[in-house]
This record gives sequence, structure tokens and C-alpha cells, in this order.
Amino acid sequence: MTQTIHNVTVLGSGVLGSQIAFQAAFHGFAVTVYDINDDILADARKRFGALAEVYATQAPTPEGVDGKAAAHQALAGLRYSSDLADAAKDADLVIEAIPEILDLKRKVFGNLNDVAPSSTIFATNSSPLLPSDIADATGRPDRFLALHFANEVWLHNTAEIMGTAQTDPEVFDTIVDFATKIGAVPIPMHKEKAGYVLNSLLVPFLTAALELAADGYAEPHDVDKVWSIATGAPLGPFRIFDIVGLHTPYNIMANGTDLERRLAQWLKDNYIDQGKLGRASGEGFYTYPQN
Ligand code: NAD
Repeated sequence: MTQTIHNVTVLGSGVLGSQIAFQAAFHGFAVTVYDINDDILADARKRFGALAEVYATQAPTPEGVDGKAAAHQALAGLRYSSDLADAAKDADLVIEAIPEILDLKRKVFGNLNDVAPSSTIFATNSSPLLPSDIADATGRPDRFLALHFANEVWLHNTAEIMGTAQTDPEVFDTIVDFATKIGAVPIPMHKEKAGYVLNSLLVPFLTAALELAADGYAEPHDVDKVWSIATGAPLGPFRIFDIVGLHTPYNIMANGTDLERRLAQWLKDNYIDQGKLGRASGEGFYTYPQN
């Protein structure tokens, strides 16, 4: 048996929170967006306006559904609140997408537990943390799990679902079902793994590519050519670096192993310090004259 989800509250209206909220609203759920104050929510409204335009033209829709109408209906239906108790009062599911600070997430889930109905399911969208890092702070570890989306969720629509040993299987199945209903592809994980599936594959892959270039074995463009031609993959690792933005891997690797720190330094010296930050800056490993 799965629980029926009608009302979804998203904590955090930043990059991923706004996308998750819109994705759910676009697929007909009643969505409340919570953030810490009304100024931030005013910015979020603008972000949602822009997202509505993106969804109207880019998001896949079920047959017979007009994307433009669905996007504008989703936008009009969003509810905003900077009061946690108000935001959570009717929620069947709360999805947390706040900054990647463990103590903050634990505190917010603790506060949420005090004000949300006891039936509400809690999910975290954290990328690097395991749900068991947070579970005890939620006060309801059986109704808590990770539901992890990728950036540009309307296009890259994986939903990696990862419980702890304490997560109720019925809650897990409810979230698998919910992910499907919001147009995502659920990826159930049988046990906890840092990096889920995607980053368990992607991080070693990108690190290996960087080592090939930084240590002078091959040019970045040639590394990409090998990968694309030999495997048929549309993007090589350095194209992916450009899309992610070079700051993110730099920040992660600068605090890593000796090898990772050396690769971070190479990225900094050869790209970041020259303003080559990736696609968003107009240049990274490739140039993007259209920006
Ligand atoms: P972000 O910085 O863009 O947004 C964070 C939002 O949380 C901001 O709007 C901020 O005002 C709000 N916030 C801060 N403190 C809060 C609190 N106490 N209560 C409620 N809201 C609060 O961050 P993001 O990139 O959207 O990342 C959010 C989460 O999503 C992180 O756990 C991150 O690992 C995960 N994630 C991010 C990506 C990505 O590509 N950005 C991809 C997958 C998962």
C-alpha cells in the first residue's frame, strides 16, 4: 500500500528547490514553497516566472496536455510561505532543498517535525550527505528518506531514491510512485551509497579525464573525442565540466586527496584564474560565442 500524496511543500527556493517545486506543480500537485524570508520569496517568484517559460517550451508533457497552459497553471497555483508551521500544515510530503550544511539541515528537520502532521513524509535532496546523517534529527526516521534530483529536472529527470535501514518500505514505495507521477524516472537504491548512482559513476569518470589532461597525456578535446566516438556518448567529460561549471569540481577537489588537490590546482591555474569557468561564462574547455 502506498500513501496518497496531494500536497507537497518544498523547503528552499534556490536552484534545485525551485525546479522540484515547479516539476511537481506542473504535474498537478498542490505545491507550497517555503524559504526563510519574504524578500527571498519575492526573488523566487521571479525565478518561477522564468521557469514557467522554460517548461512551456521544453518540458515533456503527457499526450493531449498543452505545455504552455500547464506551465501557466502551475505558476498560478504555487503557494509561498516564510512561516514553517504554515508551510507544513497540510503537507503530505516535504522535500528539503536547503544549503548543504549538515547542522542546518538537521535543525530545520527538527523544527519541521514539531509543526508538520505526524503522517507527513520528509525527504532530503542532498547530494553529498547520506539520509542516515540526518534521520535521527527528523524525529520520524521511518518516514524519512532521500529523493535526489538532477539539475534541469524537466530534462534530466532521474529521481534517485535512497532510504536508511529505518525507512518504512511503504514510505519508500510511496516516493517511488510520487516520482513517477511528477514525470521523473525513479531509481530505487537498495541501500545507502554516497553519491547515489549518478555521482558514483560521474565523479571517478571526471577525475580520470582531468588526470589525463593535467598530466599531459592527451588534450581535453581529444579525451572527449575518444569517449564520444568509441562509446557513442553525446558528451565527453570536458563538455560535462563546462556544463557543471568549473568552480564546483574545483571546490570539491581542493579539499580532497593529494591527487585531487593537484588536479584542482591545475584547473585553477589554467582555466579558473583566466575567467574560463565553463559554459555560463562563455568559455571553459570550449568556447561558447553565443553567450
Ligand atoms: P541554493 O543555494 O540555490 O538554494 C538554497 C535555498 O535554501 C536558498 O533559497 C536559501 O534561501 C534557502 N534556505 C537557506 N536556509 C534555509 C532554511 N533554514 N530553511 C529553508 N530554506 C533555507 O542551493 P541548491 O543548489 O538549490 O541546493 C539545495 C540542495 O539541493 C543541496 O542539498 C544540494 O546538494 C542539492 N542539490 C543541488 C543540485 C544542483 O545542481 N544545484 C543538484 C542536486 C541536488
